[in-house]
Amino acid sequence: MRIILANPRGFCAGVHMAVDVVDQLLDLCKDVPIYVYHEIVHNKHVVQRFIDRGAIFVEDLNEVPPGHIVVFSAHGVSPAIRELARSRSLTAVDATCPLVTKVHSEAVRYARQGYQILLIGHADHQEVVGTRGEAPEATQVVESPDDIPNLRIIDPNKLVYLTQTTLSTDDAAVIIDALKKAFPNIKEPPGSDICYATTNRQHAVRQIARECDLVLVVGSKNSSNSVRLTEISENVGVKAYLLDDVGELCHDWFAGTPGEGRDAVVLLTAGASAPEDLVAEICRSLLGTYGGTLEQRDIVPEDVEFGLPVTLKRLMREKGIDPEGRKIRVGNWQITEDAYGAVPLTVSARR
Ligand code: SF4
Repeated sequence: MRIILANPRGFCAGVHMAVDVVDQLLDLCKDVPIYVYHEIVHNKHVVQRFIDRGAIFVEDLNEVPPGHIVVFSAHGVSPAIRELARSRSLTAVDATCPLVTKVHSEAVRYARQGYQILLIGHADHQEVVGTRGEAPEATQVVESPDDIPNLRIIDPNKLVYLTQTTLSTDDAAVIIDALKKAFPNIKEPPGSDICYATTNRQHAVRQIARECDLVLVVGSKNSSNSVRLTEISENVGVKAYLLDDVGELCHDWFAGTPGEGRDAVVLLTAGASAPEDLVAEICRSLLGTYGGTLEQRDIVPEDVEFGLPVTLKRLMREKGIDPEGRKIRVGNWQITEDAYGAVPLTVSARR
């Protein structure tokens, strides 16, 4: 088997920051429970690892006892949830990705200017629920072009569209085209709301999948950007499977590929919330079963970092820790033969 590891893959800067927040709080506050509102990121392994260390995940802020610490997940929350936390005297540590916050700010600004907002995304996704909550009266969610005839438009010249950060760029383009056709004067956001990490991971799959027999995406079923990676692959005609971990690897998937898997070319990537050790474990399993080679394909360089939330910095200072000494930095993954299986490893640049 020839395994090609897409680069970039896995943790984005926002997920890295959010995971780091919970990690540090668990270290910092060993005598009080740390509550997390919703899954910190959409990955069952990340969540379980924090549960194992004592974090308590809640779906309702009323489950958090007054005065305790609660972390808001990377997907963001609505102003109503922030207000509820205040009214219950909770210490809220906001791990919302700054790129989600950017979309919230756009929603607030356009609503103030009297625009109706058409928010392209999945209505029940926590990020969309949070963004919509910034301007509920002004916002309607558009999940597909089929929703357009049912929109309640007051003034077609006072419309703007925004998007969820983790959409398929292919799908979003179709909806945006349909919106522009229906409302030629609709305003665009100042820059793409689909974030750099989503765009880069999708671009890597689009670039590499065509030369592969199969694509494997590591990520949880409720991870929007992971599911989108499988769709991008299928859009270019290559079968893709989403798996949480090595336990879900199904060898039937390789039936019909060259040499029943032994001579297959497999692209392995990971959604923005999937930890890299799960990717490495899958590599080891595949190489152990089929033999072969491992190559990392560098498509887009990434060098994005986000700072820690202000409230966490304050809590750190109260414990005598200088938060400025800590920096979060996520570059492209560096891989070693040891972690991924004892085979010759090559790294190739983008084509
Ligand atoms: S996928 Fe994008 S928006 Fe979501 S946490 Fe990562 S960087 Fe932020």
